[in-house]
Amino acid sequence: LLFPLLLACNQGTKKTSTALDKTVENRIDSILSKMTLEEKVGQMAQYTVDVIGKGGNLYASDEPFEIDLAMLDTIIGRYKVGSILNTSNNRARTPEVWEYTVKTIQERALRETGIPVVYGIDAIHGVTYTAGATFFPQQIGMGATFNPALMEQGSRISAYETRASNIPWNFAPILDLGRDARWPRQWETFGEDPFLVKQMGLASIRGFQGDNPNAIGNEHVAACLKHFMGYGVPASGKDRTPAVITESELREKHFEPFRAAVEAGVLSVMVNSGIVNNVSTHADHRLLTGWLKEELGFDGVVVTDWADVQNLQSRDYIGKEYKDAVRQAINAGIDMVMEPYNVKFCPTLIALVKEGSVSQARVDDAVRRVLRMKFRLGLFERPYWSAAEYTRFGSAEYEAAAKAAADESVTLLKNQDNVLPLPKTARILVSGPNAHSMRTLNGGWSYSWQGEKVEEFAERYHTVYEALQNEFGAANVKYEPGVTYKMDGSYFEENAPEIEKAVRAASGVDYIVLCVGENSYCESPGNLDELVLSANQTALAKALQKTGKPVILVLNEGRPRLIRSIEPDSKAVIQLYLPGNYGGDALADVLSGDVNPSGKLPYTYPRYEQSLITYDHKPSQNIDGKMEGAYDYGAQTSVQYPFGFGLSYTTFEYSNLSVDKKEVVSGDSITVSVDIKNTGEVEGKEAVLLFSSDLVASISPDVRRLRAFEKISLQAGETKRVTLTFPADELAFVNPQGKWTLEEGDFKLQVGNLIDQITCTKTRFWDTPNR
Ligand code: BGC
Repeated sequence: LLFPLLLACNQGTKKTSTALDKTVENRIDSILSKMTLEEKVGQMAQYTVDVIGKGGNLYASDEPFEIDLAMLDTIIGRYKVGSILNTSNNRARTPEVWEYTVKTIQERALRETGIPVVYGIDAIHGVTYTAGATFFPQQIGMGATFNPALMEQGSRISAYETRASNIPWNFAPILDLGRDARWPRQWETFGEDPFLVKQMGLASIRGFQGDNPNAIGNEHVAACLKHFMGYGVPASGKDRTPAVITESELREKHFEPFRAAVEAGVLSVMVNSGIVNNVSTHADHRLLTGWLKEELGFDGVVVTDWADVQNLQSRDYIGKEYKDAVRQAINAGIDMVMEPYNVKFCPTLIALVKEGSVSQARVDDAVRRVLRMKFRLGLFERPYWSAAEYTRFGSAEYEAAAKAAADESVTLLKNQDNVLPLPKTARILVSGPNAHSMRTLNGGWSYSWQGEKVEEFAERYHTVYEALQNEFGAANVKYEPGVTYKMDGSYFEENAPEIEKAVRAASGVDYIVLCVGENSYCESPGNLDELVLSANQTALAKALQKTGKPVILVLNEGRPRLIRSIEPDSKAVIQLYLPGNYGGDALADVLSGDVNPSGKLPYTYPRYEQSLITYDHKPSQNIDGKMEGAYDYGAQTSVQYPFGFGLSYTTFEYSNLSVDKKEVVSGDSITVSVDIKNTGEVEGKEAVLLFSSDLVASISPDVRRLRAFEKISLQAGETKRVTLTFPADELAFVNPQGKWTLEEGDFKLQVGNLIDQITCTKTRFWDTPNR
């Protein structure tokens, strides 16, 4: 009798992400007891401090520079601010410049308050504001690898290089779901599927934070999940505009990666800048305090996004004055305010506490969380350190890891008549606006917010054109772009096209590698009115296709631009995403066959603007793609390529599917095994994906859901048995009342083209918000 009782009690208790360290909590008590209200409020604020270049240029370490001391006086001297972020002047600095910057700030902070500041940065696909750092594919490409081990390694390297830059806090990973191709931040996500996002996110957190969230260590950093939550699906497709998400979908899909990451001990969470279901998330007590802090027992820091407290007033109009915005945000559960444009925050919050609109207890709780993170990061013992200690910064070993990740991200979407790989003697025309640009390979968050500074660091890396010259011989590779982007600060504008020039250059070559897509962009500047590939680029593709030479269409883009009019006459299609500094080399190796492509699409590639859909749709939205087919009724939605699609130069045969049980109940674990044989001539990697389908449910079920995956490598002729395991409780869905529900009935399990069926024999409802 006692056992079920204990179990019942347990279900009601809060989960704690990390066991608290008693000694640290005692030290925090003692610090808090001595702090003035002004000092406490300062700990809740985050600002930027600029570095001013005396010679104008800061990129070289030997250039004279100085910190904006007047700004430091205000921020640290007057307001006792507890955290600094990025730099507003968008300049990549060497680790030595960072060391000087952080040391100067810390010495000042310690003098003023005895408490070190915590410096935070967006090291999104590498330490993006540090010259010489290792740049990986953007998250969307990492999602395409379906290889969490690569993600963990990449994050470990980025953590090390962030520390080498004297920074202990990284605003990554992004756990938003990339479920809308129009959204200009889709490339910052791991794709559309909650399970893939969760697995890659957990790997990233392990890489960033190491094994012990209470003691992060000198080679790791605090991770920051963002943007909590529902940010990725604005109804208009435009950044920072409102989203409407059903209660079931919010908990079942958007919350799930965040939940798992908090339970894994992540140290901080950044809030969604937008509005979900009519509530500005920065003022959403239900989500920030209810779901995150109370339900999950999150004991870390909740930080706002850029200027988003101010936005509650000036953009969302939910407060008459700035003061109303601060009150709502802090009472909703915000612990730290990223408020770069004004320093009104500190006096405003002080006034609110004095008048009783924000409680002293709320402030103490927020400060405790900030101090806890500083202790966990070891900042009290070591507020800054020597950049010279970090000898592996930018090392060959790290660069090789970035290349390996780029290799595995490349996704082959079409290979008609096995046109690829190309013979090493091939004569090639490289064309298109993305053919000779490091900026487009990297995308946003690369040396600067919008990635427009990339070319200044381009020398040591290879564009597609340069990489193809290296791979196929300079004499065999010609370059004529046909279309170019304007480099005048705009993101999508193109110069007058020179298509005829490109067509003429095609004479005398055997193949055309046409690199199209997008220029770099990030956030709102990346908003679009049309998803279709630009008119110039489409015209260029058609003109080159008319030459009769085989066209290999290479897509270098942050989101899937529509290509339906040029896809049929392309012999091959390759999705490169934003592969980072080694993307050109990875593509060259794939084209020559030195690397066998193994990426798979982490999203559904749309064919039509008005038919955006995700793979986990309802039966009534049938997709006509080959990988679907569970159901055959309802509206037909035509997609260009389905989720999980990607070809190889070899073939894999799936056989002998077995499931360890035919009947399951809540609490069971389900094990599925399958033989995979490499039936081709070359070695290859294959991501093996396991999907489930709930055949009949009390609410219309999703047609398929990804439940497990594993990436394996097989020699030609080799067979491996792959075992994929997942909890039966994963088969549950969230009903319209917000309750997790596992229903009796049949479920189809599918791996490749093999299908089996299991039955759940007992319905279960969870009384707790989580399973
Ligand atoms: C972005 C965040 C980023 C922050 C700090 C915001 O504009 O939305 O993702 O972490 O800026 O740079």
